[in-house]
Amino acid sequence: MNLILLGPPGAGKGTQAHWICEKLGIPQVSTGDILRAARKDQTELGKQAETYMVAGKLVPDEVVIGIVQERLKETDCLEGYVLDGFPRTANQALALKETLAANNTQINAVISINVPDDLLVTRLCGRRVCSQCGASFHISFSPSKTEGVCDQCSGSLMQRKDDTEETIRERLNVYHEQTKPLINFYKGENVLQSIDGTGEISDVWSRINNILGK
Ligand code: ADP
Ligand code: ADP
Ligand code: ZN
Repeated sequence: MNLILLGPPGAGKGTQAHWICEKLGIPQVSTGDILRAARKDQTELGKQAETYMVAGKLVPDEVVIGIVQERLKETDCLEGYVLDGFPRTANQALALKETLAANNTQINAVISINVPDDLLVTRLCGRRVCSQCGASFHISFSPSKTEGVCDQCSGSLMQRKDDTEETIRERLNVYHEQTKPLINFYKGENVLQSIDGTGEISDVWSRINNILGK
């Protein structure tokens, strides 16, 4: 099953991707994670992406499209994948559609997670991520068992540099301008499933689990 998780920053895409991947045994493909790893290693890609990410702007389409095209060729994606944070623009969505069509495949479902902006700010300001495995926690909504330590791999938790109020506002603007229109695009493709992303993490998971079926 080839899935897309669509939603604003802080909607819970990473959190829910974890459960979907565990259920379906397919990998999570997060462009944010790939770009952050490249920044950490200071590769050419990482250096190129850095200024955009720090400012809360989108990394140019051609760069991100190239990353995803390469990643989806890897053998672990043969049985399906969960795209998290891609596509984010109309050009990215069209490029993905063409790439998949050229390989006689397609996106089976797009799960659009809806959360109001004020709640997104609260979620992102309190987000803590594992520096080793990327797992997301929240200081009040989803705290780790031991403060500062990842439940999954014991890595140390940190706050992302772009999870500051000013950058969060910019990322939300970018989402409303460039990414939100994809909801209509995928409605037109007859693959859109919209869900309420508020409530407990487990409640959101049940809504998604219902869509995925048995
Ligand atoms: P995204 O990948 O969409 O940016 P995350 O999965 O990283 O979002 O979630 C953003 C923050 O909100 C994290 O701190 C996470 O623990 C928290 N979070 C995710 N889902 C919920 C939820 N249903 N209720 C409360 N907090 C949540
Ligand atoms: P979140 O969902 O919490 O906003 P991500 O981890 O998905 O964050 O993305 C972090 C940053 O990486 C974005 O603000 C952007 O600069 C860059 N990025 C990630 N995915 C894309 C994409 N598909 N297109 C352009 N830039 C991207
Ligand atoms: Zn971890």
